[in-house]
Amino acid sequence: MTVIEASGPASRASGHSFAWINGGEAGQPEHYHQLRAHAMAEHRLMSHQLDWPVRWGGSLEWQADPAFDVGDQVRIMQQRGAEVRSITATALKQIEPELIVPAATQLIFAERDGALDAGAATRRLFESSLQMGAKAMMPARVNGLQAHAGGYVVSTDMGPVEAELVVVAAGVGSSAIARMVGMELPQRPTPGLILVTKPTAPTLRTVVYGPGVHIHQQNDGRIVIGEKGGPPETHPHPQALAPKPGAFPDSALASVHAARVLKMAKQQVPALAEAELEHIGIGWRPLPTDGLPVVGRAHAHPGLYFAVMHSGITLAPLIGRLAATEILDGVEVDLLSHYRPERFNPL
Ligand SMILES: Cc1cc2nc3c(=O)[nH]c(=O)nc-3n(C[C@H](O)[C@H](O)[C@H](O)COP(=O)(O)OP(=O)(O)OC[C@H]3O[C@@H](n4cnc5c(N)ncnc54)[C@H](O)[C@@H]3O)c2cc1C
Repeated sequence: MTVIEASGPASRASGHSFAWINGGEAGQPEHYHQLRAHAMAEHRLMSHQLDWPVRWGGSLEWQADPAFDVGDQVRIMQQRGAEVRSITATALKQIEPELIVPAATQLIFAERDGALDAGAATRRLFESSLQMGAKAMMPARVNGLQAHAGGYVVSTDMGPVEAELVVVAAGVGSSAIARMVGMELPQRPTPGLILVTKPTAPTLRTVVYGPGVHIHQQNDGRIVIGEKGGPPETHPHPQALAPKPGAFPDSALASVHAARVLKMAKQQVPALAEAELEHIGIGWRPLPTDGLPVVGRAHAHPGLYFAVMHSGITLAPLIGRLAATEILDGVEVDLLSHYRPERFNPL
């Protein structure tokens, strides 16, 4: 196996992810909840088998929007088998004492959720694959795909590579690779601001998903803060964001945005006043236009296998295992039937 990587492991979405491992939202299709439930079980298995940088503390979600009915959300998720319940602001004190919410707030407590240090996990898996015999071409961008004698010739910055099967798991960049063989993989990638603090004293146990921001603390003490909404569609954002930058153009602008997000976070977790920022980055979510993963062989191009999705941190261990089964055993796993690339490429 040869990994062809344009920059480096965890250089794009996986290194700038909020990385909450969760069962999804009530509005999503039931089959997708089932997929996520299997994926969460697979993460648990990984954390027993590997030194896996995950924290299982549960999650707490609430919204300022009065139309967000916690009772309804919990009922639907429970009907679909999720272990969630609603709790009051008073009960919250037992679970997450540093978190401040308005007195009448109801929250969704999903006890089995967790969060991953996705950058560390990605680098660890990459290193393990090299130790097990994989080769890496890096930095090397894929520029072309040419069908050739039962496989493909992949053109890269470091020269051509012949492959029997090409797995396209290039996140946002996967759409451009699909177009190289005339396939559609439409995405609407959205940016997300991610702040990471230096290691701090134990502050949070759960993933906190409140209005405006979401926050969790990793096992190494670092606190990860993500902004919930995207940037406004006003000048100069569309032009500045068109090249999908992973950072702000200068440190002054980065500090302004970081201060804005940190202010919201401190209103919910005042102990963050002690925290020092270590990293300010922008992540781009790989996001197929219907919000669902794209996984599997392309029927018109059976030498190509796609694995492109949002919520890729939650889903990765399961998709990795199922993709390996489909590729190596030549089977189609039913659990993946809703996510085939053909939905964008009808024959
Ligand atoms: C702000 C933010 C918050 C998120 N929050 C969550 C969350 O809470 N929970 C969750 O489950 N998921 C979350 N996600 C989504 C999750 O992070 C992604 O689904 C996942 O990281 C995707 O991993 P990937 O390997 O497919 O893509 P990436 O990590 O983007 O990796 C793709 C790789 O392909 C390489 N590449 C691209 N094009 C080429 C090319 N032509 N040639 C060679 N290499 C190429 C890139 O360099 C990159 O390294 C979030 C994402 C973001 C950005």
